[in-house]
Amino acid sequence: MLLREVVIATGNQGKLNEYRKILHGPELRVLGLEDVPVAMSEVIETGRSYVNNAIAKAVAIAKTTGIPAIGDDSGLEIDALNGAPGPVSARYGINLRQKNVRSERDRNELILDLMKSIPLPKRTARFRACVALAMPGNIIITREGVCEGFIAESPRGDDGFGYDPIFLIPDGRSMAQIGDLKNTISHRGKAIAALLTAISSGKQTIDA
Ligand code: IMP
Repeated sequence: MLLREVVIATGNQGKLNEYRKILHGPELRVLGLEDVPVAMSEVIETGRSYVNNAIAKAVAIAKTTGIPAIGDDSGLEIDALNGAPGPVSARYGINLRQKNVRSERDRNELILDLMKSIPLPKRTARFRACVALAMPGNIIITREGVCEGFIAESPRGDDGFGYDPIFLIPDGRSMAQIGDLKNTISHRGKAIAALLTAISSGKQTIDA
């Protein structure tokens, strides 16, 4: 299967920047939602699972544009918080009125606060990404990637987005301190690599 053009079905600029770098190449044109006449508000997340959300995003945009689309649903899972924030990572804490959690920085502070008495060995966490490619003809391919690490005790670094400043990789640097290395070791990088392998092998396609 040959892919010449793909829309990344996300309103998250941080994710889009990573897709543009990971999928960079002369043979594939990577489009964002700003390049096509649709709004991400047309896509409703059920919030139930990463894979369902990723498929919903990809299918909605592929159907509207007629162009293959990739949906990405991802999140941070913290063991000491029983897997939270998980699939609601983008909205974590918005219902806690007394905390006034609005921005990515507020969410990072909330997590650091919730975990302030937890020692580093028990601060294990992982990023998980599910990516779904929807092609015209109702072909859908999904793949998942996981990146294991720890929650820092304070934010570090200015790269990336979201929870990157509080997520430590095993060498002690945060995801916001490693520049483009993130794309080779991250949950998203791994999920996309698996997706590209599936596309080039042409074997693992599923009819939706
Ligand atoms: P959604 O997939 O659009 O529901 O949002 C996923 C949320 O998880 C983002 O808004 C971030 O808060 C977080 N997230 C997912 N991937 C990453 C990442 O690579 N770095 C930092 N935060 C991430």
